Amino acid sequence: MKSFCVIGLGRFGSSVVLSLVKNGHEVVAIDTDAKKIDDYKDIATHVMIADATDERVLKNVEIDKFDGVVVAIGKNVQASILTTMIVIEAGAKNVVAKATTDVQIKVLTKIGADKIIQPEKDAGERVADNLAHPDISEYLDLSDDYSFAKIIVKNSKFNGLTLFQANLTQDYHVNVAFVKKADGSASIGRHNTKIVLDDVLYVVGTKADIEKFSEII
Ligand code: ADP
Repeated sequence: MKSFCVIGLGRFGSSVVLSLVKNGHEVVAIDTDAKKIDDYKDIATHVMIADATDERVLKNVEIDKFDGVVVAIGKNVQASILTTMIVIEAGAKNVVAKATTDVQIKVLTKIGADKIIQPEKDAGERVADNLAHPDISEYLDLSDDYSFAKIIVKNSKFNGLTLFQANLTQDYHVNVAFVKKADGSASIGRHNTKIVLDDVLYVVGTKADIEKFSEII
C-alpha cells in the first residue's frame, strides 16, 4: 500500500482518487470546494477543504512524505502552477500535474513536474492512433521514439511458428516481450515461444515499426 495526495477533485482528480482507492492505496484529497470534499469524504482516506496555494496547507499535510502527489487543477492555471511549485519546493516525490494549455505544460516542465498529463489531448491521441491502427489495442510510450504495444496475431502465415522461426526482430525490427494466449496462459517471449492465431503479442519497437508490423501480423 502506498500513500498519495491528490489536489483538486475535478473530473481528472476525482478519477485518480477513485482508482487509487480501488487499488488499495491511501489517499489524501484536497480541494477548495466544500461540496466536492463532501462527495469524497467517505471515499478518500482523508479529505481537506483548503487552498493548496497556501504554503502552510501543504506543509501541514507533510507533502514530502507521500509516494506521489497529483496536482489536478487544470483550468485555474495560476493556482496549478503555484501549487506545483510549492509541492516541488517542499520536496515532494513523483509530482504529476494536469495541464490544459501548451503554455502551462512549458511552465510545469520548467518548474520540474515529473509527469504532465493533458487528459483530453492524451485521450484524443489514443483515439486517433486506434482509429488509424485498430489492430494495436494499447500503446505505452517508452521514449519519444519507442513504444510498447499490444497486437493480436491475425495472419495465418505466422500460425504455429516459434518467435525464432517468425524472425520478427530481424524482419520487422520489433521485439516480442510477452505473449498471452486465448486460454489465459502467458509467457515471456523466448526464441522457442510458439505463437498462434489470436494470441496477444506485447511488442517493443519504434512507433513506425510497430505500425508496419501491426499491418502484417
Ligand atoms: P477538471 O477539468 O479535471 O474537472 P478542473 O480544473 O475543472 O479540472 O478542476 C479542478 C479542481 O481543483 C476543482 O474542483 C477546484 O475546486 C479545485 N481547485 C482549484 N484551485 C484550487 C486550489 N488553489 N486549491 C485546492 N483546490 C483547487
